[in-house]
Amino acid sequence: MILSERMKRLKPYVPGEQPQDRKYLKLNTNENPYPPSSQVKKFLRSLDADRLRLYPDPLAIKLREKIGKRYGLNKDQIFVSNGSDEALSFCFYAFFDTLHGKLLFPEVTYSFYPVYCDYYGIDYEKIHVTRELAIPVEDFIKSKGSCGLVFANPNAPTGTYLTLSQITYLLENYPPEKPVLIDEAYIDFGGENAVPLLRDHKNLVLVRTFSKSMSLAGVRLGFVMAGKELINALVTVKDSFNSYPVSTLTQRIGEIALSDESYYRSINNKIVAVRESFSSDLGKLGWTVLPSKANFVFARKERIPGKEIYLKLKERGILVRHFDAEKVRDFVRITIGTQEDMERLLHELKSIF
Ligand code: PMP
Repeated sequence: MILSERMKRLKPYVPGEQPQDRKYLKLNTNENPYPPSSQVKKFLRSLDADRLRLYPDPLAIKLREKIGKRYGLNKDQIFVSNGSDEALSFCFYAFFDTLHGKLLFPEVTYSFYPVYCDYYGIDYEKIHVTRELAIPVEDFIKSKGSCGLVFANPNAPTGTYLTLSQITYLLENYPPEKPVLIDEAYIDFGGENAVPLLRDHKNLVLVRTFSKSMSLAGVRLGFVMAGKELINALVTVKDSFNSYPVSTLTQRIGEIALSDESYYRSINNKIVAVRESFSSDLGKLGWTVLPSKANFVFARKERIPGKEIYLKLKERGILVRHFDAEKVRDFVRITIGTQEDMERLLHELKSIF
C-alpha cells in the first residue's frame, strides 16, 4: 500500500487511557467526576430523533449567542468546534506562520502543541520553565522574532497559573500584531479568565472547552473567543475542512448546559475544595504537590519514579497519568475526583509508598 510521506512523518498525540471495561477509578484524563446538568439528561430523554434527518446549523448561531451572552461578547467573537483540540488545531493553522518567526511555547505544556506544529509545518521554540515549573513570562517577552505564543492557563500538566496582571503585562510587552493563544481548558477551577483583556488586545485568542468544568467530554465541544477578524479566519479554516464539525446534538446540549450555571458552579466549587484538602493531605504524607488552579494536581514523591507510582496504582485499579519527558518524569498528574475517590487514592498511596 502506498501511503503519503506526509503521513509517515506524523508523530501523533497520545491521549490518556480510556479502558472500556470500566473497572478503574479514572483519575487520568481530567474528566469531571460529577454528571452533566440534569437539564441535559432531560433533553436527551425527550429527544426528537426526526430532527437528526437535517444537517446542523453550520454557523451554530444559537450556541454562539449563548456563549457570547455568558461572557459579555457578541456571537461574532465566538467560534465553536468539535472539542477544543479541533479549535486549537484550526488556530495553529490560521494564526501561526514560520514566515514570521517561530512559535513559542513553554517546554512543559500540553503535548498536543508540538504535534500541531509538525502537522502544519510550523517551526517552534520551547521556552524553559522556572524551577517550580511555572511559565516564564519575561522569557516570552525577551525572545525576539517569534510568530506568536501559545500556553495553557492553568498550564497542563502542572496546574501552575498566571494571574490576570501577569497576562496583561505579557500582552503589553509583546508585539500587538502577533497572536497570543491562551488555552483556558482548566480556567473554571479557581482561575480568572482573560475575557476582559480581549477588548484592548486584538491579538488575544482564548480557547475553551465543555469537557472539564461542564462535564461534557463525551459530546466534544470547544470554543474560541477572539476579535471578529480572527474568528472569521477560523470560519474559513473550518469551511475548508468540514462545514458541520459540531453536531445538532452537541450544539443543543451546549446551549442547555450553559443555562444551568448554578449547578456547574456548585460542582466545580466542590472540586476546588477537594483539590485543596487532597493536596494538603498528600503534602502531610511527604509528597511534593505543585500549587494547582486546575482540576488536577501534579505531584511527586522523593526517590520514587513517576512511572512506578503510575504502575503500582494501576495494579490496584486506579489510573493516573505519567509523562515520560524531561523535568516531569518524576511526577504523576492526578485528576481530582469526588471526596470518596480521593480518600480511596490516599488510602492506597499510604499502603504502597
Ligand atoms: N487543552 C488542554 C490543556 C487539555 O489538557 C485538553 C484535554 N486533553 C484539551 C485542550 C482538549 O480538550 P477537548 O478536546 O476535550 O476540548
